[in-house]
Amino acid sequence: MLRDTRERALKDLRISVTDRCNFRCRYCMPKEIFSREYEFLERELLLSFEEITRLVNISVGLGVEKVRITGGEPLLRKDLEHLIEQMSALDGLRDVTLTTNGVLLARKAAVLAKAGLRRVTVSLDSLDDEVFMKMNDVGFPVAKVLDGIEAAAKAGLTPVKVNMVVKRGVNDESIVDMAGHFRGTGHIVRFIEYMDVGTTNGWRLDDVVPAVEILERIGKRFPIEPLGANYPGEVARRWRYADGEGEIGVITSVTNPFCSTCTRARISADGRLYTCLFAAWGRDLRGLLRSGVTDEEIKAVLLDVWTKRDDNYSERRSSATTGLGKVEMSYIGG
Ligand code: SF4
Repeated sequence: MLRDTRERALKDLRISVTDRCNFRCRYCMPKEIFSREYEFLERELLLSFEEITRLVNISVGLGVEKVRITGGEPLLRKDLEHLIEQMSALDGLRDVTLTTNGVLLARKAAVLAKAGLRRVTVSLDSLDDEVFMKMNDVGFPVAKVLDGIEAAAKAGLTPVKVNMVVKRGVNDESIVDMAGHFRGTGHIVRFIEYMDVGTTNGWRLDDVVPAVEILERIGKRFPIEPLGANYPGEVARRWRYADGEGEIGVITSVTNPFCSTCTRARISADGRLYTCLFAAWGRDLRGLLRSGVTDEEIKAVLLDVWTKRDDNYSERRSSATTGLGKVEMSYIGG
């Protein structure tokens, strides 16, 4: 199995299919920067579905088992079900999943599931309309996202994972409500520590609510106990409700980094390969894909990039690193 300089295998590929989004979440895509004048990627610069599928097929040969489709907002990419069909037909690919803000999910869930999508993760930062609208900054209501989650469940994309980025003084008052709402539904809420992704969200450590505090708040209302990981390298740390009403997760990049088991690589919508969410640079693959080289030659490049990988940003995070140039999360997906 292919290993990087820290003995980590390459198992998960996160593929952004667009840098565009219909939300302007303050912690990812602040409106004042990603304004009407912002130059998003032109269509011809995006990898085609065939190019993405070719890359995935080559990566499966290097150990990749799971693909997560991201964005921006991936459901904005037209006919996305065709890409899922192509990828689901690949031998050796165990799992195809997707992260979405849920806006278009009620309309697309059934067709995506039919195309081979296995699971879905929906971002929802509060059940309080006022708080949620302020965070997505486009005035989009909670109810429509809940409709999308319901449609996904009906389509068999279960359990639905619900991601909540917790920012102190913004939506931390919503933590216990969120837990209460999804308890007993089978869906799994993951509470994410607010991260210094990219260079545009004005991140401060004071705005982070540590996972221990999140768990404490929930545990006071609904007793919880720790659960083991489903598999090595799982991002979320799992906890179950003591009364059996399901489980939750916490993603602790700031207070308890998990770089030592990170098996993820990311590909941007225009075909750049990043080996860390906080990387400043990515290797261009689109030029290769369009230059007529063979799969073996592309494989050699992937192998070269991964074997030289030594990323561990979250372990090194400090006041000296947060200001460094980093790729935008809206460009390579979470
Ligand atoms: S900071 Fe980078 S190396 Fe660490 S877990 Fe995140 S993506 Fe992986």
